[in-house]
Amino acid sequence: EVRVRYAPSPTGLQHIGGVRTALFNYLFARSKGGKFILRLEDTDQTRYDPAYVQNLYDTFNWLGIHWDEGPDVGGPAAPYIQSQRFALYKEYAEKLVAMGQAYYCFCTEDRLEKIRKEREESKSSETGYDRHCRALDPAEAAKRAQAGESHVIRLKIPLGEVTRFHDHLLGDIEWKNDDVNPDPVLLKSDGFPTYHLANVVDDHLMQVTHVLRAQEWIPSTPLHVIMYKAFGWDHPEYCHLPMVMGQDGKKLSKRHGATSIDEFRRQGYLPEALINYVALLGASYEEGKDIYTVAELAERFSLDKLNKAPAIFDYKKLEWYNGQYIRMKSDAELATLIEPYAVSSGLFGEPGTAPSEAQRSLFVAAMPLIKERLSFLHEGPAKLTYLFDEPAMPQKEEFFPKKADLAVAINLLTMVRELVPAMARQSDEASEAMVKQYAEEKQVKMGDLMMPLRVAITGSRVSPPLFGSIKLLGEAKALARVDRALE
Ligand code: GLU
Repeated sequence: EVRVRYAPSPTGLQHIGGVRTALFNYLFARSKGGKFILRLEDTDQTRYDPAYVQNLYDTFNWLGIHWDEGPDVGGPAAPYIQSQRFALYKEYAEKLVAMGQAYYCFCTEDRLEKIRKEREESKSSETGYDRHCRALDPAEAAKRAQAGESHVIRLKIPLGEVTRFHDHLLGDIEWKNDDVNPDPVLLKSDGFPTYHLANVVDDHLMQVTHVLRAQEWIPSTPLHVIMYKAFGWDHPEYCHLPMVMGQDGKKLSKRHGATSIDEFRRQGYLPEALINYVALLGASYEEGKDIYTVAELAERFSLDKLNKAPAIFDYKKLEWYNGQYIRMKSDAELATLIEPYAVSSGLFGEPGTAPSEAQRSLFVAAMPLIKERLSFLHEGPAKLTYLFDEPAMPQKEEFFPKKADLAVAINLLTMVRELVPAMARQSDEASEAMVKQYAEEKQVKMGDLMMPLRVAITGSRVSPPLFGSIKLLGEAKALARVDRALE
């Protein structure tokens, strides 16, 4: 059975990169009928904030991505929060010491600092620990540790060997053990595990079969493989996902635009659009098909369809997706999604006022007028104010068709006024035909005829469809607006 995990450290808001990793793991599990696990890697307590855990839950709830095992839903490998598993990591670190694969190190911070300084002065290229305590007699070291002398536990990396592993995307990777970070700390002096220890122990105990994570973790992988070997365990299969870049080829960051899912959510993105777009960051499915439901993605997902090249995050393309998903909503669904923005912007009265029954039905009925024109939910209310409030009287020039003047505009508006009652009743097609015929009879351009009417009714030269607007306002209101303009 395939078992994969998303293992975030709750030290920040959920962002595009993290969600992409989570989504690929989720889709992989679904495509294989396997399990998707959430594990909180909260070993770095200095940077931990419960607000980030809440943000994690909120984000994935909103996206509709659910895990099969995790802190909130439980599971056979519980607990899924690393800070609740500290005793376990200590036990496994001690096990490695007993097996001769790790050792106690008593070097003080002062000593380590001294080495750093000496190297700096002699311009030595050496980095990391100098393996000083590796030479201690194990029995002697164990005695000192038991006596309570402050110590860490370090991995004893086998020297002179080569570590090899296969990455599904990057192929075979080799690393000389002598080049791996020398004997890294597994267990700190306060008993806390490092990321490497907790990550490897948990992936093993949780029976994780595949590790899909960002490519920035590649340098840690040789170390992890060495640890699996030291324990005598098989390591999971690896697939390091290409980085997500901005248009300028640099790692996606705030400089490029929104990156936290919170921000996208506030800006009126739909979760479906975000999922669809993010699922295609570094993966290709069918030529010419852009729109995929989560189920369709799960059906098609395969590690073989992932790209090696970095993925470029294109805000314009995401915006396009958002528009597509907005158009797929029914009028009622869309109205429900836009309503909070309408309430807070004051479409129904003072900002914060909820719609009355009548306002709500007008609001729902108006959705077809704006659906095709929205990229974001929050753009909706501003496009509809003219339906709920009489627009401020536009400047005179607004009424003029191109290359005309006020007299012409008044004349045209007076003419077209007689068509308004019919427009308020009949279909858009019928109105279209009616205006066309009328314009021919009067020998004016259809556009010239419509412009003053549009400005009178909506208060603007650019507006949602005019016939639909007149129908929603009704004959009396529509005529009143024309008469107001003619006064
Ligand atoms: N806790 C690590 C992170 O924040 C997990 C990396 C991994 O997947 O191994 O991304």
